[in-house]
Amino acid sequence: MADALPACLLDGALVPTHAARISPFDRGFLFGDGIYEVVPCYGGRPFRLQAHFDRLQAGLDALGIANPYSRLRWAELVRELIAANGAGDMGLYIEITRGCDSGRDFLPSPGMKPTVFGFCWRLAAMRSEQLERGISGATLEDIRWLRCDIKSTALLAAVLLRMEARRRGADEAILLRDGRLAEGSSSAVFVVKDGRVATPPANHERLPSITRLVVGEVLVVLGLPLEQREVLLDELYAADEIWIASATRETVPLAQLDGRAVGTGKAGPVWQRVFDEFQAFKKRETA
Ligand code: PLP
Repeated sequence: MADALPACLLDGALVPTHAARISPFDRGFLFGDGIYEVVPCYGGRPFRLQAHFDRLQAGLDALGIANPYSRLRWAELVRELIAANGAGDMGLYIEITRGCDSGRDFLPSPGMKPTVFGFCWRLAAMRSEQLERGISGATLEDIRWLRCDIKSTALLAAVLLRMEARRRGADEAILLRDGRLAEGSSSAVFVVKDGRVATPPANHERLPSITRLVVGEVLVVLGLPLEQREVLLDELYAADEIWIASATRETVPLAQLDGRAVGTGKAGPVWQRVFDEFQAFKKRETA
């Protein structure tokens, strides 16, 4: 885990990370009543910030929380937070909860003021040997709720699933609902067979991943169609390549699934093309 950088954002002001405090009566603490975003920043520039703001707004709308800031103000706050932490490559976390109440009741009091928290950490790209080697996955039944399209801070199921994957010696939990691929515990999943790339459709069973969107655009540039359809466990076991994708990890090949080699058991050629083009997107958009 990378440590939080020294400046964080709390309710519209930059404060020293070590001094940031919120009330235990915050509904984020009591109920996980909030949403979050993770935005990758390269050379101090956020990548696909507007798409992250779109998803943030969709989450706030789903929770019935009014966005505390305009997009313009958000962009300023993000810029200030990044600058206060010395820019460079970093992950940026933003959380908005429904706010702090006067007691504990499932029903929130009317007119609550949302709590806003943001912090950053240094982003270290995986080394090319690590990427070439790939990581491992363990399939697990998806025990999460039925609104996985909301980037909710209530992540207990994902925490337990990741812990179970680790117990099985795997880096990521690959989640299934009745034998159908949902997503990773904190990643989108792509499957390649005979040069065709597939990923499950966006719906309430999975997060609308921003990296998945970018990968879709990368595939268009590469002239490789992306099939959005259900993917079954048998297809995972028979795949030539499987990759996971997320904002801070970009795309990472899975070398093993449930102890079996995926394809050749190392990074595949389609992943390599996607990875290279992805770097070009990043460079162009954050130059
Ligand atoms: N799915 C889940 C459950 C996640 O937690 C994440 C990221 O953390 C993703 C998918 C990937 O989303 P993004 O590409 O926006 O990081």
